[in-house]
Amino acid sequence: MWIARSKAELEQQLATSPRPVVLVPTMGALHPGHAALIDLARKHAGPDGAVLVSIFVNPIQFDKPADLEKYPRTEDADLIICRNHGADGVFIPDAEDMYFDNRSITVTETHLSKHLCGATRPGHFDGVCTVVLKLFNLTHCDAAVFGEKDFQQLAIIRRMVRDLDLRVQIIPHPTLREADGLAMSSRNRRLTPEQRADASRIREALTLAAQKPSPSEILVTAREIIEASKLTKIDYLAIVDEENLQPTEQITRPSILACAVFYGEVRLIDHIRIPKA
Ligand code: AMP
Repeated sequence: MWIARSKAELEQQLATSPRPVVLVPTMGALHPGHAALIDLARKHAGPDGAVLVSIFVNPIQFDKPADLEKYPRTEDADLIICRNHGADGVFIPDAEDMYFDNRSITVTETHLSKHLCGATRPGHFDGVCTVVLKLFNLTHCDAAVFGEKDFQQLAIIRRMVRDLDLRVQIIPHPTLREADGLAMSSRNRRLTPEQRADASRIREALTLAAQKPSPSEILVTAREIIEASKLTKIDYLAIVDEENLQPTEQITRPSILACAVFYGEVRLIDHIRIPKA
């Protein structure tokens, strides 16, 4: 497994790379959720194709400097996971190599990013789209795997591919969860044991609420369960249309109940599909 630490090194490695190239973009601190994405990439690339994992904590998608600073970094363990799951190469660039000081072009999505994480994290999805487009260009990938855990991100990336005519197939992977239902996340390791034990209520709240018959009951139920804990603060809790991600008052089409919850400074997201009434 090769490691490229700069755009120039990546270019060299890719000169002799077989096709298809399947990319798994990550910010590192890899867990079994990421490993499953690498496995799916391996399956998709086949025995002759190349699986490439990028590990880059992208500064321009963080709206809070403290969140960027405290983002877990576990490179040695990450490389072991990449190797064990059959990655052919890992791209670990520096922010200085990725971004020019005087860069002046950013990719902006203007519809799907209006609500949910886009509303409470200004500029976040501009940063995501910009780095993902750069990674697609740098790796010349044929396909890329993204987790459904970040469903707004997945929808926005698909929209970017459609609207900008990118020749990259987007492959989704379902959310991997801990035994108690908490969605796996690199941020979970920043929780205290008390917060970690409490955090299973997020999934419980969404699951129980999604069974209620009306949007208002769904929202009230989820809010009650989450706010029963003194350790949490809701960032947002909303029902949106599954396709256009706009808030919906009546569930006439497949919809998503989504939330972001703070445990101290640690922000966790999760969502569940609400079946059409
Ligand atoms: P991150 O490193 O958090 O930026 O995530 C990199 C990729 O892994 C994204 O496509 C995420 O959606 C995906 N991912 C993160 N956590 C999970 C999970 N629990 N299950 C499935 N995919 C995940």
